[in-house]
Amino acid sequence: MPEATPPYFGVPVTAIPGVAEPSATCALCGTVGTSIPLRSAHRLPYSRPERESLFGCLSCLAAGRFTFFHITEAGYLFEDGLHNPTDTELLIPPRLHGIDPSRLELLRRTPRFPTWNEVEWPVHCHDFMVFLGEWAPPDFSRFGNGLSLFLQMTPIENHVVWPESGSADWPIDCFTYWAFQCRHCGVYRGVCDLG
Ligand SMILES: [Zn+2]
Ligand SMILES: [Zn+2]
Repeated sequence: MPEATPPYFGVPVTAIPGVAEPSATCALCGTVGTSIPLRSAHRLPYSRPERESLFGCLSCLAAGRFTFFHITEAGYLFEDGLHNPTDTELLIPPRLHGIDPSRLELLRRTPRFPTWNEVEWPVHCHDFMVFLGEWAPPDFSRFGNGLSLFLQMTPIENHVVWPESGSADWPIDCFTYWAFQCRHCGVYRGVCDLG
C-alpha cells in the first residue's frame, strides 16, 4: 500500500534531506517505514529529551497523533491557532485571511523542512500552498521559458539571483529556492532562503 503523502507536500517526504528516514520505527505504532523525526513535534506523550531519538510514521502523522508548528504568511501556527509573529500572545482569526479553520489542522499534520532562515509557508486562494521542494534554474525550464516563470514566481527583490550565465546552479552559496503551488488555481510561487 502506498504511504500517505502529508496534505501540503507535493513531493515525497524522503526527497527533501532532513525531513524523513526511509526505514525508522514509529514510536507511536511500531510500524517500520518512512518516518519523521519527532524532535520538534507536538501532541506527544514524551518529554523533549525523550523525543530527540524518536520517529513517527506517516500514518500517525495523518491521524494527528503528532503535529508540527509552522511559520506561515498568515501567522505562526501553534496547536491553538494562528498567532501574530511580532506578539505571539495575540491570536489571529484564520478567517482574517479567508482560511477555513480546518486547513490549520491539515498544515499541522504536514512535516517541516530544514531551512537556513525562517521561511513563511505561503498562502494562496485562502489556503496554504503545496510544497514542491527545492528548485534550481533547470526546474523552471521544464515549463518552457524558465526565466519568465522564475520572474512570475519570485519576489522582485530576489530577481537578481537568476544566473544570466545559463548556469544550472544559483550564483550564491547557502541559497535555496523553495517552490510551492496553489492547490486551487495552480499558480506557482517561490520562497528564497538565504543562509
Ligand atoms: Zn505510527
Ligand atoms: Zn491560488
